[in-house]
Amino acid sequence: MPELAYVNGSIMPIEDAVVPIEDRGYQFGDAVYEVIASYKGKLFCFNEHFARLDRSMKELHFQEVQVDEIRKAAVDLFSMAKIERAAVYIQVSRGVSPRNHSFPSNVPVQVVLTVRKIVEKKPSVRETGIFAITVEDFRWGRCDIKTVQLLPNVLAKQSALDAGCYDAIFVTKEGIVREGTSSNLFILKGGVLKTHPITPNILSGITRLLVLDICREKQYPAEECFFDKSELYEADEVFLTGTITEVLPVVKIDGRTVGNGKVGPVARVLQEGLLGKLKSK
Ligand code: PMP
Repeated sequence: MPELAYVNGSIMPIEDAVVPIEDRGYQFGDAVYEVIASYKGKLFCFNEHFARLDRSMKELHFQEVQVDEIRKAAVDLFSMAKIERAAVYIQVSRGVSPRNHSFPSNVPVQVVLTVRKIVEKKPSVRETGIFAITVEDFRWGRCDIKTVQLLPNVLAKQSALDAGCYDAIFVTKEGIVREGTSSNLFILKGGVLKTHPITPNILSGITRLLVLDICREKQYPAEECFFDKSELYEADEVFLTGTITEVLPVVKIDGRTVGNGKVGPVARVLQEGLLGKLKSK
């Protein structure tokens, strides 16, 4: 089956899908999104992603949205595409209306979905870990809302690639470590895991919560707390978490080796634990 798109009720091959130029997502970045991954033909953490989509829309005061219809569209499109290992992308914009900053009245939201095959990372990336750089977090103050305004993330990711690295880690001017460009971040030091607490400055990752659950199950001490760049550099292990990222070890940051430079045992256990959860859900 080809990779498919859904645009306001119509289904078509991705390359044929278009949105009107006055879509507010296109004009203003006035849109929210989610990405759901499937494993062996099943959509993982479907309800959790829809709960976050719903919250993002509420936080931006979108007009009342029939989330059940979007849920059904996601399920239908996914089953039609028959792609076992897929990423279902869902984007909802505030609608199509002549360009004007103020909210349009009585304009329905625009719903766009795509289903595409996930291209798995080369096994070597998980085996050797990745290199990262740090960049200043110059994003807005509501990173908890999953909007399509990803320009700082795009620029940070490209800076990492230009530096011969895989990803960038956002750090504030004051040195507080936030998250990756499309992932959350954990460090391990002296047997204790740390990750940034839930505040408006990071996205509340679904994988982050699953990893915290696994830590509880394994009785690994884990804290949701602030930590700075020096703790990041001195950590025994560092890893990123995300829907497509899963648990991805970072072995070099800004040219400095993390721990012994190899993928650490805790990251390995947590990645295995995550795969275990995928199979059981
Ligand atoms: N932070 C950012 C900025 C992201 O884009 C993502 C990916 N959605 C995450 C964290 C991880 O979230 P999740 O585990 O829900 O994919």
